[in-house]
Amino acid sequence: MKMSSVTFLGSGGGRMVVLNQLRSSGGFWLNLDGVNILQDPGPGSLVMVHKLKLKPRDLDAIILSHRHIDHSNDVNVMTEAMTGGGFHPRGKLIAPPDCLNSDPVILEYVRPLVDIIEIKKGLETSVGEVKIKFPIKTMHTCDTFGPIYEFSAGKLGYIPDTEYFPELAGAYKGVDYLIINVVRMKTDTRIKHLNISEAEKLVNEIRPRKAILTHFGLQVLKASPERQAKKITKNTGIEVIAARDRLKVEFDDEESLDNWV
Ligand SMILES: [Zn+2]
Repeated sequence: MKMSSVTFLGSGGGRMVVLNQLRSSGGFWLNLDGVNILQDPGPGSLVMVHKLKLKPRDLDAIILSHRHIDHSNDVNVMTEAMTGGGFHPRGKLIAPPDCLNSDPVILEYVRPLVDIIEIKKGLETSVGEVKIKFPIKTMHTCDTFGPIYEFSAGKLGYIPDTEYFPELAGAYKGVDYLIINVVRMKTDTRIKHLNISEAEKLVNEIRPRKAILTHFGLQVLKASPERQAKKITKNTGIEVIAARDRLKVEFDDEESLDNWV
């Protein structure tokens, strides 16, 4: 069985952290059963990909959760890189409609290089053997969708930028692994982001085998993401870790280990 993993090309979020590069902001690179997917290539994604000696030509898909610049800045350059400078059209680009329509973040000249799929609530698609579904539209300031990726070791859910709302937990129920963007310690209703207590509530309701917090704004960085993750582990009994730049987490397959006994 191939080992699956996520590598964080950044763990920063929010204006102050991203604009000052207090943490990198390149999104995350998934290798799921040998299928390579780049999720949310924010500023510096291309640079970090090369620093980590990953090969853009190995990518099978790029997915945008939404159009904000800390999630989409490098989408065009990464599309060119995935397609060998445009000479080898291939791969998928999966994005919400408002990334393609008015004031698009996906430039028209890269579009013929890839297979473009527009996300809508409930969309089920696949990249190679990996099944991907978008269970819910989150509550952010533009069209925002977080996928559930299904692969041999289980299901991985990604809760992108959103304010808390009760249906979120139900949409991600049953995932084995969960990545959550946690920008703030306290809520500011104007900017529609999860705070740390809401992240804890989601972890407690969804109860994955493991949760990874990322996309930290200044408030969370000041409060130590590691300390916050430990606190959530203590309160919920779920293993929670804080992402850091260049962190690689492997997804094991507990069932296949059981089969050895
Ligand atoms: Zn956003």
